[in-house]
Amino acid sequence: MFSPSPLKAALLSSALLLCTAPFPLHASNGNNRNHDNANPRPDLVQEPISHLLQQQQQQQQEQIAISSDDNANCRCIPEDACWPSPSQWSRFNQTVGGRVIATVPLASVCYPEDDLYDETKCAQLRENWHLTATHYLDSASVMNQFFARGPDGGRCDAFVEATSFGQTGEEVGKDDNEKKQKNQEGKRCSIGSNVVYSVNASSSTDFSHTMAFAHRHNIRLVIRNTGHDYLGKSTGFGALALWTHHLKDITFFDFDNTHEAAEQQKSVAYKGKAARLGAGVQVSDAFAAAKAHGLVLHGGNCESVGVVGGYTQGGGHSVLSSALGLGADQVLEWEVVIPPSPATGHAEPRLVTATPFNEYADLYWALSGGGGGTFGAVVSVTVKAWEDFETAGATLMFGAAGLQDRGIFVKGVQAWLEALPGIVDLGAGAIWFLLKDVLAVSPVMAPGVKANELKQAFRPVMDKLDGLGIPYASSFTDFPSFHDAVAAMVAQQNVTDANMGGRLIPRSLVTEKKGAEKLTAALDAIVSADGIVSGISVNIERARKLSKAYPNSVNPLFESAIHIGVFGFPYNHLDFAANIDAQDKITNVFGAALEKLTPGGGAYLNEGDPHQPDWQTTFYGENYDRLLAIKNKYDPEGLLYALTAVGSEQWVQQEDGRLCRA
Ligand SMILES: Cc1cc2nc3c(=O)[nH]c(=O)nc-3n(C[C@H](O)[C@H](O)[C@H](O)COP(=O)(O)OP(=O)(O)OC[C@H]3O[C@@H](n4cnc5c(N)ncnc54)[C@H](O)[C@@H]3O)c2cc1C
Repeated sequence: MFSPSPLKAALLSSALLLCTAPFPLHASNGNNRNHDNANPRPDLVQEPISHLLQQQQQQQQEQIAISSDDNANCRCIPEDACWPSPSQWSRFNQTVGGRVIATVPLASVCYPEDDLYDETKCAQLRENWHLTATHYLDSASVMNQFFARGPDGGRCDAFVEATSFGQTGEEVGKDDNEKKQKNQEGKRCSIGSNVVYSVNASSSTDFSHTMAFAHRHNIRLVIRNTGHDYLGKSTGFGALALWTHHLKDITFFDFDNTHEAAEQQKSVAYKGKAARLGAGVQVSDAFAAAKAHGLVLHGGNCESVGVVGGYTQGGGHSVLSSALGLGADQVLEWEVVIPPSPATGHAEPRLVTATPFNEYADLYWALSGGGGGTFGAVVSVTVKAWEDFETAGATLMFGAAGLQDRGIFVKGVQAWLEALPGIVDLGAGAIWFLLKDVLAVSPVMAPGVKANELKQAFRPVMDKLDGLGIPYASSFTDFPSFHDAVAAMVAQQNVTDANMGGRLIPRSLVTEKKGAEKLTAALDAIVSADGIVSGISVNIERARKLSKAYPNSVNPLFESAIHIGVFGFPYNHLDFAANIDAQDKITNVFGAALEKLTPGGGAYLNEGDPHQPDWQTTFYGENYDRLLAIKNKYDPEGLLYALTAVGSEQWVQQEDGRLCRA
């Protein structure tokens, strides 16, 4: 029998720790930054505005303010004359109940030249860096550090060795003076492209005040929930963040919109249990609350991802997606603050409720799949809640170790791909990982299905593995409830420290022998270059029919996809140039190969290549033009910007970091 230990070792040795890891890759839960309460950064928040004023006054004395006229089409940044004065910030801070937080990058404790330098705290930070809580409890830290680096190369990275400053290629300048200066700069923690300030929002009123302030002062605004976004959408150079983490309300109630449903949409009207989730609710919060009510809410495999933010607004896949559809398919209503639009008589932000049947039906459609941080700031979402169900769970693992020829292992991988249709058609969602010498399938969950039925769906791949002489480990278990399956099968989740790309793999590719062969070869090329392939296999079309989902703006190519694929290479904290190289390979080598295999195909906007060519069609498919029209209707001045978000082509981030009209 196959022993799982080589697999565990392989995964442990991989720096690419995907959130969907089948094993608890780091046993430590020693995050001693116990600040998940109303004041998450007590050390910094107690007198946030005084810190902020001090900083600003110093800046004003030291710097010659740059005339905003030079950058009239740009958002203001801190050194600009148009940046709010200390007293304006102070008044704003009062308006939002003293909830403005000045960003101090977490890793400032790791820089010897920094006032906050503390060797012990730095060691703790490094130890806990992989924990998602290290970042989502902070008002600014983003998990993909690629996007925290400033336009001038400034950064504040916990893993940079102080002794290495001035020695790596990127810090060394052309001549000695430049080198010396760079060396000095590198020794100090730089805020880089982290947001400058955040508002720790406690209500929709804070949302409106923050949006109004950013609009009035022409400041870049981002919405930050957990900081999970792989494409850096929850941070921005010189930006103010609306931080939603502490809006944790969850209410369950009976919902009925059958009377509102237009005649042609009666078939999808909903009468049943529902839950209203505040903007800061994470998967673990939603699951725990649903369990207490004997219900199930849709959520990803990573317990720390925010349900209401990027996940549901960007689509949102889970092991339930072959049975219940995507996260966006669960939405009944959005409560959202939309940006000011003076030209249409709306000088201030407005709180509206968007449903499939009211005057904001277009906004409902766009928010349900068109991407986070784009159309408005969502205060809460109302989603379908399902009665808890029995769930079958499965795992399968095999490796190349002990085989005479690695080619045999690769044939086993192909057998797995060919077995996928039978598995997902049963209503299962299957998460799996491919490394150079290991395939790990875990967890697979099939709501309302018995373990022996699920085992039958796995029979073709297991027979093939037997025929090839590949030893494997498998398990098939009946769980009395979905929550029991989650408790038994979903491991601790970590930050994905990786450069990433992604592709939707159409079902037609694996149902045809030649296609499956080519796909296997393309995936094998990635893992042979020490990358990792992962993702989730699903049947969205089936689920949407069964669950009667409302039409929404999720890329229609999800329906024909059998696999929502991601692939990546480890993020290098010490050598930034290595990340640029990795990104280049992702876009131009491995991503390009997958595109060639899937012409006219798409990718998941939340788990894709940040440098994706033709991102509008790849991420949004045929919906892009309609989404853009809705964006221009509700946010005509482009207050909400994020990389690869709808309408972001109307803006350019200049070399100096300024966000300017294209
Ligand atoms: C470790 C890990 C595991 C993951 N697992 C899964 C998974 O199982 N399934 C899946 O589908 N995806 C998964 N993802 C991808 C995830 O869905 C995206 O990263 C998503 O953007 C996270 O949303 P967030 O709100 O938590 O994060 P953030 O980074 O805080 O925000 C993401 C985006 O949403 C916007 N946003 C946040 N809150 C709001 C709001 N209230 N109103 C409007 N816009 C808002 C932000 O501006 C930003 O554009 C995973 C990502 C990571 C890093």
